[in-house]
Formats: sequence, C-alpha cells, structure tokens
Amino acid sequence: MDLGLQGKAALVTGGSRGIGFAIAAELAAEGADVAICARDRKVLEAARKKLAAGSKGKVAAFPADVSREREVNRLVTDCVERLGRLDILVTNAGGPPATTFSDTPADAWQEAIDLNLMSAVRLCQAAVPEMRKRGWGRIVMITSIAVKQPIPELILSNTARTGLTGFAKTLATELAPEGILVNTVCPGYTGTERLQDLAREMSRREGISEKEVIARWTQGIPLGRLGEPSELASLVAFLASERAGYITGTTIQVDGGFCKGLF
Ligand code: NAD
Repeated sequence: MDLGLQGKAALVTGGSRGIGFAIAAELAAEGADVAICARDRKVLEAARKKLAAGSKGKVAAFPADVSREREVNRLVTDCVERLGRLDILVTNAGGPPATTFSDTPADAWQEAIDLNLMSAVRLCQAAVPEMRKRGWGRIVMITSIAVKQPIPELILSNTARTGLTGFAKTLATELAPEGILVNTVCPGYTGTERLQDLAREMSRREGISEKEVIARWTQGIPLGRLGEPSELASLVAFLASERAGYITGTTIQVDGGFCKGLF
C-alpha cells in the first residue's frame, strides 16, 4: 500500500528512543522528511544517525524540552526552516513518575500537565498555522491506554492524558473543515526503556523481580506478550498518511487486547 508520505514533512517529538523513535523510523522509511527532538543532545544525535541510515528523505534533529513553551515554539520554527514545510505532527514525550494520590508531591501535578498535556497543546498552536498554508495536515497524539482504563499508581498519567484526549477530540472537530485530521493513539504495555524503568521501580517497591513484574503485566494481555514499538508505529504512519483521509477524532489503542471496555 502506498501511504503517499513521500514529500511530506513530519515532526515527531520525543523521538530519540522507544515509541517516538519507532514512529520516526517508520515515517522515514515511507519516504517522509522527518525531524525529531529530545532533551539529551548525545542520545538525539545517535538517533538521528540511525534514522538517516534507513531514510529516503531528509532527517533533522533538534534538542528541545517539550514541556517548555519557548522551546516548543523554537522547535517548530527550526523544523519548518530545515524541512521547508510541516504536514505531520506526532506529539510524544516521556511519561510522569508512577505515584498514588497520597504520595504525589504538589509540584509533580504541574510538571505532568506541562509534559503530557500542555506540550501537545503548544505544539499544535505552533504547527497548525503551517498545515493551514496547504490545507492539509495530520496530527497524531501519543497518549496511553490509561485514557480508556486508568492504571493504578499512574494517577498523574491517568489525569493529564484524559485532558489531552478531550483537547484532541475538540480540535479534530474544529480543524476538520480545513483538511487537518487529529487522532490519538494509546499504547498498551510496549517494550521500551520507559517500561523497563517502570518495572524496575515496581520491583523495588514490591520486593519482587523485574521479570515477575513483567509477567504480571502480560497476564492481563490477551495476546500474552508486550507490544513492539514498531507495531504502534505502523498505525501512526497510516493515520499520518493520505490513506487515512476519512479518519479523525478517534482514540485507538494498540494494546494486545488489554482494555476490556467496548470502546
Ligand atoms: P521512553 O521514555 O522510552 O521515550 C520517551 C522519549 O521522549 C525519549 O526519546 C525521551 O528522550 C523523550 N522525552 C522525554 N521527555 C521529554 C521532554 N520533556 N521533551 C522532549 N523529549 C522528551 O517512552 P516510551 O515507552 O517510548 O513511551 C512514549 C510515550 O507513551 C510516553 O509518554 C509513555 O508514558 C507513553 N506510554 C508508554 C507505554 C509503554 O508501555 N511503553 C504505555 C502507555 C503509554
């Protein structure tokens, strides 16, 4: 299937590893010009080199912290300058720490809102004017299965990402007449460094091995295994493509059947 991504320019934030990197790699392999960002310059440069090796188009990388408004604006400006346009925005970053209501420090709330809600709002504010120039755009926001089935001890993620889901749905309705489509994709348990960190934290807290933590997670997944970042990336590439022209305002999970609700 030709996704029609050749000649399109995409920005994938949090693209130096994990899900973000897999999405950038998929878009690059499909012929799109791709820019990524992350905070750590060294890791970012290594990711850029790896991406460039499997890419048919331009690849750019910019150090930026998406939880900071000024850095988001500069990132989008730099990206447009380097790639010449911006058609596709994939909002993604790290996740907040695992905490409960009782042990969440006061300032962690604002940090989680900035990282997992306001980052995407600000990225859209900066990117949508570029998409409007051509009357074509795709925005895909990476959230979590937590928006369909809140996860115990991830109260910060459960809270910030449901807010983002409401934002995305509203934006989808508002931008549809302009040819800009907005969807959210919800990872289930996906084998990345972030998941390893969470397993380490839980193993320390509960006095069980990391292997046992992961086994407990996979028990709740009908497909019986963690997801691969590339499995989620395939869906994002499709949603970002010409082929997904009638899909907007959706919230789709890639979770091996983990969510037990109907929608
Ligand atoms: P990850 O921690 O492995 O990778 C996150 C990426 O974002 C990295 O490139 C990191 O450098 C970058 N990043 C982090 N904070 C940033 C910031 N402030 N500014 C710019 N870049 C930043 O995470 P992942 O597992 O690939 O997950 C991606 C997103 O999906 C996260 O928000 C995560 O919480 C969510 N998610 C993941 C899973 C999973 O099982 N992996 C499940 C549900 C939701």
